[in-house]
Amino acid sequence: MEGGSPDRVSLGSRAKRSSASSGGRSRAASSSVRKEFVRKFVDCEILTANLEDWLCNTDFDVPFTLKELQDFDYALEAASFQQLIRMPNALHASTSEAVEAAAYLAIEDFLHASSKGLWERFWGQDGPMPFSVACLHSSSSKFYPAEKAIASGKLGGLCATALMLKNSQQSRGKWDQILLLSLLKPNLGSLSMEGDRRSALSILGEALFFALHVLLWRSLSRSTTVLHDPTCVFVLLVDSQYGGVLKLEGDVYRLNYDKNNVYESAAEWIKTHSKISVSPVDRIWNKLGNANWGDIGALQVLLATFHCMVQFYGMPKHSFEELATDHHSRLQNRRTERQLVDTRMNGNGMFRFQQRSVSPEIVEVEEESGKVESEEALRLEVGSVLWLEDSDWQKGYQINEVLSDGELPIYNVTPVEERGREFFLYAGSSPRHLELAHEDMNIWYHVQRQTKILNLMKQRGLSSRHLPQLVASGRLIHSGTCEKPSSSGNCSHPRCGTPILVTAPSGISVMNMVRNSIFTPDEALRCCHDCLSALSIASAAGIRHGNITPENVIHVSSGTRRPYYVLIGWGHAVLEDRDRPSMNLMFSSSYALLEGKLCSASDAESLIYLLYFCSGGAFPELDSVEGALHWRESSWSGRLIQQMLGDISAVLKAFADYVDSLCGTPYTIDYEIWLRRLKKIITSDEYGKEIDESGPQSHIIEQLLKVSLHVLSYGLDIFQKLRLAAYGSNYRIA
Ligand SMILES: [Zn+2]
Repeated sequence: MEGGSPDRVSLGSRAKRSSASSGGRSRAASSSVRKEFVRKFVDCEILTANLEDWLCNTDFDVPFTLKELQDFDYALEAASFQQLIRMPNALHASTSEAVEAAAYLAIEDFLHASSKGLWERFWGQDGPMPFSVACLHSSSSKFYPAEKAIASGKLGGLCATALMLKNSQQSRGKWDQILLLSLLKPNLGSLSMEGDRRSALSILGEALFFALHVLLWRSLSRSTTVLHDPTCVFVLLVDSQYGGVLKLEGDVYRLNYDKNNVYESAAEWIKTHSKISVSPVDRIWNKLGNANWGDIGALQVLLATFHCMVQFYGMPKHSFEELATDHHSRLQNRRTERQLVDTRMNGNGMFRFQQRSVSPEIVEVEEESGKVESEEALRLEVGSVLWLEDSDWQKGYQINEVLSDGELPIYNVTPVEERGREFFLYAGSSPRHLELAHEDMNIWYHVQRQTKILNLMKQRGLSSRHLPQLVASGRLIHSGTCEKPSSSGNCSHPRCGTPILVTAPSGISVMNMVRNSIFTPDEALRCCHDCLSALSIASAAGIRHGNITPENVIHVSSGTRRPYYVLIGWGHAVLEDRDRPSMNLMFSSSYALLEGKLCSASDAESLIYLLYFCSGGAFPELDSVEGALHWRESSWSGRLIQQMLGDISAVLKAFADYVDSLCGTPYTIDYEIWLRRLKKIITSDEYGKEIDESGPQSHIIEQLLKVSLHVLSYGLDIFQKLRLAAYGSNYRIA
């Protein structure tokens, strides 16, 4: 809670701290003496003068720790607060009555919205809210709704706004019914002890004056409302943007009610028998006058209000610590919705992809939950045989190898009945785990969703050797007797019902090739061609990949004279607008990082990053979406990617330019021309030499210009890029 941001100013930032001493005189004063004392205790300036030196030399604790605020924030996730009247922004620029009146109305509305939201969140929605809000008038010590006070010309005398118990008999309100007081102090946010010590002191003095008043009136109360803790009171200090909380605690029966020395007695009690805590002053309202409910400034005020409500109504059924624990499950759901569940780490820890969102709490939870839950995933051992069943068959697969390039293992298996063949096997998690762990969402993409996509490809008649094929999918047959109640149910065995997917072909990942330094420029061209071919066929059927990484491209060399690449890992495929691609700081397209969606060139853009990375292109350490976007922007505009790929082949460079020109636009990729161009190089014995300067190159320029004509309507900026691209590759060849 220490300051640091210029937005925060501590009102009590100097010197030593006070302690609520238990020593001193204790003399029970009669009720009439106390009443007389309160009636004489009317001038906050005299009190401030009596406290001045002490306040200057005292440092105060904060009323709430950051942890408390955080838990409270979590507990408030499902609460709704609605401030209807905006706080005027011009309060300190203008002292006009209209602005001040609007500020009082806004504070009243803010207290109403806060208490209503808290009441509904913590005490349940049954019954009407038992609070009301009113303004205190200094001369009469009476409470009025701000609107009424303003209408009757009493604005000038308003000195505080109170959250009070609703009392049908006492329409005017009484001091002992005050839960919380709020003081409007223009320029609070610009105060500091250094800058304007006197103003800060006078604000503290006034807050203590009102706080003590509330405590004194409570001690005189004949109200039947039993306060759970009458010895503590909160005062809110606000201006039109900032706010803070002062808390005063102490037993007023220890006060020496000397009616001839009212202020000295009060000051003495504050110094020796009270405990004061003061929060930093932080922003509550934004420039539009809306409350920033989730920000520290507003949270401090809300937490103070919460404690005041506890004083009168007791602890709610569910403590906020308890409600805060629900945060974890909500966070997981949110992460799943936003596709932030994908933490990748390669097998040997060579590098690590981090997915850090703007909000730091996502990182914390991500790390800790990953560890625990990965143990829940099914791990199969080399040599073991796994059986799976569908409704009418059973098949066995022997595990040859565990491939762990991605964050979840893929097994290289041989079917028991077809020795000599090799497939990939994906094992899911048992259905009973599915709701518990967010890693199970990853497994779900890995197995169930991928099964769905591959089935869909089959149904839509997609066939290409660059796409994986579904060989089998079914449920694991576990050891022991299965006592499942029906063909679709599960028994109590922990692995019962675990989904399994088997695909063909098997191979080694490009990541693996990179690690073994066998991903040559020649391979990069083949890889580009084969992946584009897969993308072309899938996109024609309305399927986009959404998760192109070096782990998701495999090199198939067994059982074929000419090795080739297959684009695997289709679990995150995007079929419709609401599907979200995987988020990966290194390989996701800019559009995916920005919008959480794919544009038509997104998969090709990811493929470019893959080729760049796998061919030795430098990546900075990317630890945020902003950083990843910045790297993309500066690398494209600085032509780093194009140049690097140009070292492999002019066609790759031109392709990169082409993709760059389409990124973020709705224009579709012309796969055919690039497949032709790439194929031409690959089939040529010496790639690179066959690039004649007239034919294909001018064809590329023609293509680019064709696109650019489409794009003209999209923006001159992109047109500029295209011209650059065309000239760039031309220059390179010449
Ligand atoms: Zn079973």
